[in-house]
Amino acid sequence: SAARNADAVPGRVRVAVRLRPRNAEEMTADADFADCVELQPELKRLKLRRNNWDSDTYEFDEVLTEFASQKRVYEVVAKPVVESVLDGYNGTVMAYGQTGTGKTFTLGRLGEVDASDRGIMVRSMEDIFADLSPNTDSVTVSYLQLYMETLQDLLNPANDNIPIVEDPRNGDVSMPGATLVEITDQHTFLELLRVGEANRIAANTKLNTESSRSHAILMVHIKRSVLESEDIVSSQNDEASHLTKPSKPLVRKSKLVVVDLAGSERVHKSGSEGHMLEEAKSINLSLSSLGKCINALAENNAHVPFRDSKLTRMLRDSFGGTARTSLIVTIGPSPRHRGETSSTILFGQRAM
Ligand code: ADP
Ligand code: MG
Repeated sequence: SAARNADAVPGRVRVAVRLRPRNAEEMTADADFADCVELQPELKRLKLRRNNWDSDTYEFDEVLTEFASQKRVYEVVAKPVVESVLDGYNGTVMAYGQTGTGKTFTLGRLGEVDASDRGIMVRSMEDIFADLSPNTDSVTVSYLQLYMETLQDLLNPANDNIPIVEDPRNGDVSMPGATLVEITDQHTFLELLRVGEANRIAANTKLNTESSRSHAILMVHIKRSVLESEDIVSSQNDEASHLTKPSKPLVRKSKLVVVDLAGSERVHKSGSEGHMLEEAKSINLSLSSLGKCINALAENNAHVPFRDSKLTRMLRDSFGGTARTSLIVTIGPSPRHRGETSSTILFGQRAM
């Protein structure tokens, strides 16, 4: 799967890996150990240590070290998707990895204290606002949580059983009843993200579960007025424009979906029971069916098993086909979590 040109294959998922810096605990507890990975960003390679002598080498579309800035991560992972959404295509950006490796840092950071911290959601919206015409275009946002195959509105948590409906005519996926907020400036958007996050914490406290056990899904719907090209006439040529029928504006719709996936860590089935086991099974179902869809796209299979989970049913119209998709897999440096890191790397590899 090495030397494929990422941009040459429509529908293919672009995959980046990002290493989180050592945290305080890893600085002390693991101080005597080498990181379990070694990154070669210029070669877009990552080496995962097997032992002191051997390592396995993997290639990605982008390899982001612990020194990669949020700005750079946005530019390589999300910006191409955002640009394509502004051109009228649907797109998806997803973060996959073990809890604590930086998925939310990468996607959801607001950057209110230090603007350089801003994550992918905030930077995407900045680029969207910069490109839209406020008089003719509009942006609406919904923010949802998917937990154990139940879809909840993070902007109105009482709304906790949202259906996923696919339009048989054009394949468009919609979530009837989900709150849609029109966003006219960045301030409103940050407020919406804060409300969504607070509701997510409250909802999970009520359910007695961790946020890391659910998927958070931000949907940004864009409507733009565009003129059909044959109707655009030179305003300098009065005679010609006089003869031309009035141009008719079309509304072009597209959407950007940003998914902060549930933590990918394996819950040991023998050790968990009851609700914990059901929760683990549900996470495994959605992540493994996501993996199967990504693999099917990577292999150009005619059949992509979108039907298998709610997560993939939701993503169906913004994934593969003409849609652009970026996956960022996040890993930590600790040799203690080598097993989880290895399975995260393999998930990313299978997508390529
Ligand atoms: P996840 O969402 O995958 O569970 P988080 O995004 O919450 O992980 O990150 C876990 C911790 O690590 C947080 O305290 C976060 O601020 C920190 N962190 C993650 N990635 C980075 C990074 N690239 N640079 C600095 N700190 C990071
Ligand atoms: Mg998180």
